[in-house]
Amino acid sequence: MPNKSYGRRYGLYPANELAGISPEFVLKLPDSILLYPNRSPALPMDLETKARLISVGTVRLKTALSLDQASTSGPGAGCGSIFFQSGDRLVRLSVDESSPLHLSLEEGEAVIREGSRVAAVGRLVQPLAHCPHQAYITVCERCIYDCKFCAVPRLMGQPKSPEAVEGIVEACLEKGGLSAISLTSGVEVSPQAEVDRIAMLVRHLGRFNLPIGVSVIPTSQSNRILKEAGAVEVKYNVETVDPDLFEVVCPGLELEAIKEALKEAVGVFGPGRVFSNVIAGLGESDRVMREGIAELAEMGVLPVIRAVYPHPLRRQEIDMVRPSKERLLDLASHTKRCLDREGLRGDCALTMCYRCTGCDLVPHRDL
Ligand code: SF4
Repeated sequence: MPNKSYGRRYGLYPANELAGISPEFVLKLPDSILLYPNRSPALPMDLETKARLISVGTVRLKTALSLDQASTSGPGAGCGSIFFQSGDRLVRLSVDESSPLHLSLEEGEAVIREGSRVAAVGRLVQPLAHCPHQAYITVCERCIYDCKFCAVPRLMGQPKSPEAVEGIVEACLEKGGLSAISLTSGVEVSPQAEVDRIAMLVRHLGRFNLPIGVSVIPTSQSNRILKEAGAVEVKYNVETVDPDLFEVVCPGLELEAIKEALKEAVGVFGPGRVFSNVIAGLGESDRVMREGIAELAEMGVLPVIRAVYPHPLRRQEIDMVRPSKERLLDLASHTKRCLDREGLRGDCALTMCYRCTGCDLVPHRDL
């Protein structure tokens, strides 16, 4: 993956060419970065370094980069972030002036330091829409639920029209390097209405002939409806596998219903085509976490072990502790063992987070 045609692969384009692609992340990269597409990083990021960077989760920019627009999807919804590629590994970091990590651009390379120590050398990658390679679109940026770790209910955004969604995909196609469409959404009226809206969009976007993944709150009909519409992968997030914690952090939602939908989804979409976010850092024990990961894998589901992001709009509401490097490595190794036991692969995903790898240690991609 590294060292070849970064421009084409990762869509390195001046941000002004992406202007108007709302609400996806657009970060202006200086020309110096764009001029060195084939340079090999001096220190390809190893697994431990990626774990450390994810554990911190933020970076301070020492070289001025202008954030044209904040990302409004993903764990850092509403905050600017950068994608840093080094060797085979990609990491997404939220931009935060108080971060212990700092990034500078030096002779066409991006250098991340912790204190005076160089942590990794690589390059910044311009996402297409939210993340590299994909048009990952948050269709509705508002939500009737109030999950305590999620910024979307606080953003009070508006649903995008089908034309706006289509426009984002078309703009990504024009830039090149688009390999998937991923759709996610808050819940404007009800989970079923959201599934119906997304299904309509999936049908509409089928003309692009790209794999389409969907991440929504499931309903009793969502697997059939999304499959018939043309989606190839789904992600229904359990968020936490601790039932007691779930009641606290996801009021109004039902963990068992989500698990039932996941189980059914494996039958509909196939093993390895169904994903679920499991957040690390909400107060869950390692024992419960490990059991939950194993249970999901046994069902044929690929767990996405996501470090909690204490969003500024949510920091006061619950205790959120970013997992340590050691914990991330341990949970990732456990996940990989569980996937291997079930014959599941993390490197076959066509869409969404296992395809992107920016936020997580992904089995069979990172380790
Ligand atoms: S891993 Fe998922 S949430 Fe993170 S940047 Fe990539 S697509 Fe977005």
